[in-house]
Amino acid sequence: MNIVIMGPAGSGKGTVSSAIVEKFGVTHISTGDMFRYNIANNTPLGLKAKTYMDQGKLVPDEVTIEMLAERLSRNDLNHGYLLDGFPRTLDQAKAFEKLETQLNMPIDVVLSMVLPLDMLVSRITGRRVCPKCGASYHIVNAKPKIDGICDVCGTALIQREDDTQEKLMVRLSEHDRNTAPVIEYYESKGLVKEVDASKSILEVEAQVCEILDLFR
Ligand code: AMP
Repeated sequence: MNIVIMGPAGSGKGTVSSAIVEKFGVTHISTGDMFRYNIANNTPLGLKAKTYMDQGKLVPDEVTIEMLAERLSRNDLNHGYLLDGFPRTLDQAKAFEKLETQLNMPIDVVLSMVLPLDMLVSRITGRRVCPKCGASYHIVNAKPKIDGICDVCGTALIQREDDTQEKLMVRLSEHDRNTAPVIEYYESKGLVKEVDASKSILEVEAQVCEILDLFR
């Protein structure tokens, strides 16, 4: 099964993606995670991406598309893919059409995560992440057992550079300007299924499983 998951920052794409991978065995490809990995390892790609990411802006298409094409060439998509955070522009969507044809793996469904602005703001500004293992917490809704410390690996938690209110506003406007048209484009192809992302994690996962079961 080949899935794209779309939604603004704070819509819970990452959390739902983990559940999808566990249940359906698809390969998770998150362009945000790939950029963060490259930044943490000081690669040339990471250096290119960092200035944009730190400001909440999109990394240029040519950089992003090249990175994704390289990732897809690894041939590890036996049970299908889950694209998380890609495509975010119409040019990326068009570039992906060539890639999916080469792979002979067309998109089966696009999950569009929808929730109100005030919820996005509180989810993102309260998010804390582990810089070592990537686990994600929230200062009110998903506290670690010890304040500021990762339950999984004991590392001090941080706030992502782009998770402040100011950067979030830039990310949301990038989403409205560049990514909303991609959702409309996929809607015109009949691929989109909306998910009410304002519900609890368990309820959101249940909605998503119900949708994906139709494509098994
Ligand atoms: P995410 O973890 O998906 O919220 O992505 C974090 C940041 O990575 C975004 O705000 C962008 O700066 C960058 N990024 C991730 N995916 C893309 C993409 N497909 N195109 C451009 N920039 C991206």
